[in-house]
Amino acid sequence: MFEVHVTTMFPAAHALRNYYGKTEPIHGHNWWAKITIAGPQVDSMGMLIDFVPLQKEMGRIIGKLDHQFLNEVPPFDVVNPSAENIAHYLWEQFSASVPAMQPEFEVTVSRVEVWETDNCSAVYLPK
Ligand SMILES: [Zn+2]
Repeated sequence: MFEVHVTTMFPAAHALRNYYGKTEPIHGHNWWAKITIAGPQVDSMGMLIDFVPLQKEMGRIIGKLDHQFLNEVPPFDVVNPSAENIAHYLWEQFSASVPAMQPEFEVTVSRVEVWETDNCSAVYLPK
């Protein structure tokens, strides 16, 4: 099994709803997101997946969240914008496009980790 990771930072604000019965005050974080792609082998070029389209996709997906008030960005206008829910959202987004980046065999988004601060992160694992 091979894994590759791409990581990026994006500043964004949020305010958790129903946080001990109240909505948190709006505040910002420099969020970090790490996407892990896994697969059983490397291709004819020696790669599990090409970093170039993967980073381009990172830019496209994170671009929707970058410098935003997450509570106003779907699905976080409904889903609480917790680190856990952001990790799950990123997993869904990347899972829709990553398999097509490796036509020779199956690759999956096996892990997404989202840091709210240096010391606090949440991970979404698909199983
Ligand atoms: Zn926060």
